[in-house]
Amino acid sequence: MKIIHTSAELKHWFKEHKIRPMNDLGFVPTMGALHVGHASLIARATKECEKVIVSILVNPTQFNEKGDLDSYPRNLEEDAIIAKEAGCDVIFAPSPEDLYGGEPSAELVDWGDVTNEFEGKSRPGHFDGVIAVVDKFFQVISPKRAYFGAKDLQQVAVVYKMAQIRHPSVEVVECDLVRDSEGLALSSRNSRLSKKGLKMALELSLALRKVKDTVATGMPVMQSVNESREALKALSELEIEYFDGVNNLSFSSSDKSENWTHIIVAAWVEGVRLIDNIRL
Ligand code: AMP
Repeated sequence: MKIIHTSAELKHWFKEHKIRPMNDLGFVPTMGALHVGHASLIARATKECEKVIVSILVNPTQFNEKGDLDSYPRNLEEDAIIAKEAGCDVIFAPSPEDLYGGEPSAELVDWGDVTNEFEGKSRPGHFDGVIAVVDKFFQVISPKRAYFGAKDLQQVAVVYKMAQIRHPSVEVVECDLVRDSEGLALSSRNSRLSKKGLKMALELSLALRKVKDTVATGMPVMQSVNESREALKALSELEIEYFDGVNNLSFSSSDKSENWTHIIVAAWVEGVRLIDNIRL
């Protein structure tokens, strides 16, 4: 496995390995601090593509809080071990300036509910940054397939739309959300939680699970969501931003509950923002 730090070096590697845009190239964008969830995306890409590139960049334009950007965990050496084991051929870890071709910036994007509601509303500018960085990576790499985790469900919908509009030849592949043995959604941010914080974080996935189970046994989904949201709000160590049902394509808060495909949650635990979701 090779580690490459500049776009120019990557282009050289493409030449050396006779990689052309329509080659069977798989791309897994990440911000590093890799865990089993990321590894599952890389392993899937390895199965489905000839060569796999994993990008590692803590993208400054998608952080709406500087403290969150500064405290984001970074460890390229450990990441390289995990990526290699999962089958990665190249880690592409450029500086923001190299990828953006200068000072990183993101233009405002308004694609309606999908960019404006839920994560779009809670984190103004976040999706502008995600769209900007994925667009830049797609321009440099021209992958055939790009792999994204269902952990960031709204991001999948946004990237899917972005690819349709700007990169129709790229196939966006949604990969399953990976949890630990207790059900906690794996996240690089979990490493910033204490033991107690991790226990509180688990309440989120338990609440999602409860909605799915009660709906399966006949409770109206709206009632189940309302009850679980109130139960979570009663926990003083959790600060719930939203706990709602959504359709995974529209992400509109006015969708009827018959059209909901998932329950999504965003919450703060010990100053760390966590998101999770479950398919109904
Ligand atoms: P991140 O480094 O957090 O930006 O994540 C990079 C990619 O890994 C995104 O497509 C995420 O959705 C995906 N990912 C992160 N955590 C998980 C998880 N627990 N299960 C599946 N995919 C994940």
